Amino acid sequence: MSCERELNRIKTVIKKNLPADIKIKKIEFEGPDIAVYSENPKVLIDDANILKDLAKKMRKRIVVRWNFEKRRDMIETEKYIQDLIGEDAEISNIEFDENKGEVIIESAKPGLVIGKKGNNLTEIRRNTFWQPIAIRAPPIDSKTIKLIRGMLKTERAKQKQILLKIGKRIHRPTLFNDLKIRMTALGGFREVGRSCILIQTNDSSILLDCGVNVGNRNNQFPFFEVPQFLIRDLDAVVLTHAHLDHSGLVPFLFKYGYRGPLYCTLPTRNLSTMLQLDYISVAEREGRPAPYSKRDVKTTVLHTIPLSYGKVTDIAPDVKLTLHNSGHILGGSIVHLHFGDGGYNFVYTGDYKFQKTRLLEPATVSFPRVECLLTESTYGGAQDRIPSRHESEKELRDVINAHIRKGGKILIPVLAVGRAQELIIILEEFISHGLIDKVPIFIDGLISEATAIHTANPDFLSSDLREKILHQGKNPFLSEYFTTISSKDERKEVIKGGPCIILATSGMLIGGPSLIYLKELADDSKNGLIFVSYQVEGTLGRRVQKGFKEFQYEDTRGRTQLVKLNLHLYTISGFSGHSSRSQISQYIRKINPPPRLIIVNHGEESKTVSLSSLLHKKLKRTTKSPTNMETIRLK
Ligand SMILES: [Zn+2]
Ligand SMILES: [Zn+2]
Repeated sequence: MSCERELNRIKTVIKKNLPADIKIKKIEFEGPDIAVYSENPKVLIDDANILKDLAKKMRKRIVVRWNFEKRRDMIETEKYIQDLIGEDAEISNIEFDENKGEVIIESAKPGLVIGKKGNNLTEIRRNTFWQPIAIRAPPIDSKTIKLIRGMLKTERAKQKQILLKIGKRIHRPTLFNDLKIRMTALGGFREVGRSCILIQTNDSSILLDCGVNVGNRNNQFPFFEVPQFLIRDLDAVVLTHAHLDHSGLVPFLFKYGYRGPLYCTLPTRNLSTMLQLDYISVAEREGRPAPYSKRDVKTTVLHTIPLSYGKVTDIAPDVKLTLHNSGHILGGSIVHLHFGDGGYNFVYTGDYKFQKTRLLEPATVSFPRVECLLTESTYGGAQDRIPSRHESEKELRDVINAHIRKGGKILIPVLAVGRAQELIIILEEFISHGLIDKVPIFIDGLISEATAIHTANPDFLSSDLREKILHQGKNPFLSEYFTTISSKDERKEVIKGGPCIILATSGMLIGGPSLIYLKELADDSKNGLIFVSYQVEGTLGRRVQKGFKEFQYEDTRGRTQLVKLNLHLYTISGFSGHSSRSQISQYIRKINPPPRLIIVNHGEESKTVSLSSLLHKKLKRTTKSPTNMETIRLK
């Protein structure tokens, strides 16, 4: 009932601000959007500024829908679009979203679909009443994206109902007038893994990330048992990025009845769906029960509301959310929460890199205001100097050349998302510039699928890489230097074959093809193993990195086997997707005005504590490094 009152208030404002000749048929809350159904859309088509001004004035996300009764039949519309655009644009797919009234046109040349000054799009709008969206067909097919599209296509009606329900909840009136904010550490404090943070006001409850502890099977879950955490009270879940230590247990919330929204970027939705489905298959293969099923992943997808960077979105009656680039992996976000009306601002960095990489732009640092900053500290220890990229690239070249020239093989364990793509770009450049010998580079595990998702989202890549891909036609991800390994027999051939470089998952040697290769390559001192990413405590990767010279495993017949490590070990940390200790401190210094309170998480205990005291000394701010289950009052 009270949501109706808010709707009426908004209706009045919209009517007052739109030209009198626009007839509004209905207004609905569709998730965080206000959907305006208009009867005579032509006026709005011709002057898109009217809407932009209105959205700005109201600080709301406003979308206009044409009356669906007027929309032309889908088959007819498809034929009309094909005829209008012509064959040169190489249209590969035309899809309709009846909820949004959008027709998505996928082609090799979206510029031709759009037409001069957007002429074609205007024509399509005028003649079919569908809102055309021109997108670039990704050069590599992604199974995950296909699967997600399939899920959404068959469940449009259900998704519409979900959005209407979420919309009502967001726009309910607040019960309390005074703003009080608390943060509870549910996971990922004084440790790396199971990141999960609960933010509560008197009126609402928001969960930031819901990760799994990959390194420690005994402590996989965040502390859901604390009395502050009640699934039924959650207004929203916000996901910073796809890595499982942040996204791994999101479907678990849906398994236990959560039916609210999940906010993240589009690439994060695609990549985390891929990793969650893989997490289930790995568990099944190893004969362990997975904490959730494929059905729960599908429910998660249906409740996901993709957001772009920089767009302010209402997620609860007293909370607005904005996502910003984190520079960590594709689609990764820094979360900015604004509470009340100018009351308080909280920024959670998630994992971030305050430096440009081959793949991404550096983390965004400009926020209107930040009272409290929650920062990661993976490399926040006093000894954690990350060497420059230049130094690291030189070291990588030298190590590769030394082993390849001896006739050895190089194994680089990588997470499927992030470092794998960064290395693909670097290795492609090494070979094309003759910096390393031209040997085959094999890619094994989920990496190729993750790369396909990267090519589908060029907007999120660094400006240099985007320019290369879109305007110079030089896509390193399509280079002939790389061969994808997809069967056991192919893997055997690689192991038997000559000098080569192997990029394989998992990144911390906790299973998957990287472990298979290690077992086979370990004995020969001509071979080299290079760690390029953080190795979580408790993983085999961490033990090997620390200097353990052998490890045991159980073979398929249940017999214990011993592997001796004679191959050479290297750690090159300059490719890390995390900020170094000095980058973290530079990042915080750039925030203006500086935050009053700095909280440190996502790091080993000693590093978290050490970074927290460094920041306190240098910046003269209150800093805290809470433990899991602690609650801190922010305001
Ligand atoms: Zn991460
Ligand atoms: Zn992380």
